[in-house]
Amino acid sequence: MINLADFDKRLKDWYYVEGRNFSSNIYIRIKDNDILFIDTGGPGTNLLKYIESVSDKPRISIILTHGHWDHTGGLIELYNKGIEADIYVHRDDVEFYVSILRDKPFIDLSNMERIFIYGDEYKVIHTPGHTPGSICIIWDNNIFTGDTVFRDGWFGRTDFPGGSSDTLKRSISELRKINVENLFPGHMTPVIGDAKKHIQLAYDYIMAYL
Ligand SMILES: [Zn+2]
Repeated sequence: MINLADFDKRLKDWYYVEGRNFSSNIYIRIKDNDILFIDTGGPGTNLLKYIESVSDKPRISIILTHGHWDHTGGLIELYNKGIEADIYVHRDDVEFYVSILRDKPFIDLSNMERIFIYGDEYKVIHTPGHTPGSICIIWDNNIFTGDTVFRDGWFGRTDFPGGSSDTLKRSISELRKINVENLFPGHMTPVIGDAKKHIQLAYDYIMAYL
């Protein structure tokens, strides 16, 4: 678990678990005795390890950037062990992908522009294209992009069911208007300080190649 404050001291309380093999990156915010995850990694991820490091009975919140199993598979362990968490996800991806969530409660992000978790505000931007219910999350000057945009101009695949390259073009175009400094993608390493440049590059590449 990497402390993101080592890269930008405004990211106090934020941590990063690098995705390996078929697991996404996981971003963690530990606030007092509570824990927030942005994405859970794949099915083999041991989220409990992080949860137990916070306190005996922390509140647990999980924002899913989209429904693909390499971002949501970590939920399986929590469900198997009967651990309760508030799960924030766009309903389009629950219908499409997250079968594990279909009969469980979740907080639908489809009509929400902002959410409040442990007293902090997070902006929600619907960015379909990689999947119908993909979202990006903004906290302060940071954007968490899931599989919509990565570093160095890479962008999410659109050849999975529910993907659309025209829709992804529109979503990335919209992201260019947002003022952010740091970019935390679902795969590959984070971008510290140059977020807008990398979003623009993704836009240039998707317009040129898709
Ligand atoms: Zn994905």
